[in-house]
Amino acid sequence: MTGTGQADGAPRVIRTDAETADGLSKCSRCGATQIALNIGTGMLRCSFCRHEWSTPGANEAFGLDEGVGDLTGITMGSGSADLVPTAEVVLTFKCSACGAEIVVDTASSTQARCHWCRNKLSVNQQVPNGAVPDMVLPFSLPKEKAVEQIARFVRKRRFFAHPRFREEFNPENVLGAYLPYMVVDVNAHASFSGQGEHQTRRYSVKVSEDRSETRYDADLYDVGRDFDLEVHDLAVVSSRERLDQRSGTSNNVINAIRPFDLENAVTYDSNYLAGFTSERRDTDVADLAPIVDAQSTDVARHVADDTLGFYGRGVRWDDERLTVKGQRWVSAYLPVWLYSYHQTKRDGEPMVHYVAVNGRTGAVMGSVPINYPRLLLTSAAVEVLGIVVGTIVLALGALS
Ligand SMILES: [Zn+2]
Ligand SMILES: [Zn+2]
Repeated sequence: MTGTGQADGAPRVIRTDAETADGLSKCSRCGATQIALNIGTGMLRCSFCRHEWSTPGANEAFGLDEGVGDLTGITMGSGSADLVPTAEVVLTFKCSACGAEIVVDTASSTQARCHWCRNKLSVNQQVPNGAVPDMVLPFSLPKEKAVEQIARFVRKRRFFAHPRFREEFNPENVLGAYLPYMVVDVNAHASFSGQGEHQTRRYSVKVSEDRSETRYDADLYDVGRDFDLEVHDLAVVSSRERLDQRSGTSNNVINAIRPFDLENAVTYDSNYLAGFTSERRDTDVADLAPIVDAQSTDVARHVADDTLGFYGRGVRWDDERLTVKGQRWVSAYLPVWLYSYHQTKRDGEPMVHYVAVNGRTGAVMGSVPINYPRLLLTSAAVEVLGIVVGTIVLALGALS
C-alpha cells in the first residue's frame, strides 16, 4: 500500500476563512451580539429579536462535493493546516465596540464577553492552534432526546453494569461537545490479487459400512480486481486523546456513532458553539494519514468482496494494493452529546467510560463498567464494539 505520496509539491489550500473577521459578530436586524444555535431549526438565532439565519453550506461554499475523481496530491482547507507549536492559544484583541483589550482562551472557547460593554466577541479567523476549523455541523438533536437515548442504552445493560455505576448514573450530566474531526475525500486505485475457489460438485462417499462423508470438488482460480475508488467524507477524530486507545474506549465509542450527515455542514461561525464545549484539533494531516489509508483499504476490500459471488468457497487475497492519487482534507467540528463516568478499577487504575450520542442522528454507543462476577455467572455475550467505517462509496471504475 502506498501512502499519501505527493506528486506535485506543496498542498493546495482552499481558503475557508476569507469572509470572516474577529470581534463583534452581530445580528443583521438589531445589531445584538447575543447569538446562539436554535437546535430546533439548526440555525443561528438572535436572543433579542429572534431573527434566524444560517451560514452558507460548506460543500457549496468550498466546492467540497465535487471532483473527488480528479484529486491529485493533497488539497486541504486553510483550517486544516499543520499546527504551529508556538501558536498562541490565548488571544488578545480589541473590542470593536468600546476599544477594550479582551482575552480569549481558545483552548476552551472561541468566544468571550467584553467586561466593559458586555458585547460578545468571537474568534472566527483561523489561528494555527487548531481552534477554528473549516466547517461545523451544528447540533440538531435536542438534549432531552440525547438523555433518553443514553438512559435507554444504560437500562439495556443494567444487569451487567457495576452497581456503583448504576447508583451514580444521572443522565442529566450530559454535555454537548463539538469534537474535532478531519473529513477526508480519497481518490485512489485498488489492485487486489489472490486465489478463489468455485465449487463444482458436492457428493457423498461411503467410507465404511455405516459411514459416509461429504466431499466437494472445486476449481481454483487466480482472481484479480482492479478498480478506481472514490471515498467520500471519511470522518476521522483529530484529537490525540480521543484517538488514544489506552485512554479507555472513547475512540471506539466515537467511531461507532458515525456516520454524520456531513453534506449539511456549514461554514464556521463560533456562535454555533455558544453553550457547548469544544475540543481543539491537536493532530496534523501527517498524523492521521495512516488511519485514513487503512480505512480506505478497508473500503476497497468491501467493494472488491461484493463482486466475488462466483467464488462460493472464498477468496484469499495475496496482494492488496491501494494507490492513493489524491486526497482532500477539511477540518470540522461535529456534534456529540457525552455522558462520562470515572471509574477506579480494582488495581487502582482510573478509567473513563463514555456514552456518546450523535448530535444529528441520535445513534448511541458507549462503554459501561462491567460487574464481572455477574457477567461470568450468566456467561452472556458481551457486545463487541466494531469499528464502523462511515463512508459512502459513490463511484467505481470498471471491475475486471
Ligand atoms: Zn437581532
Ligand atoms: Zn467592549
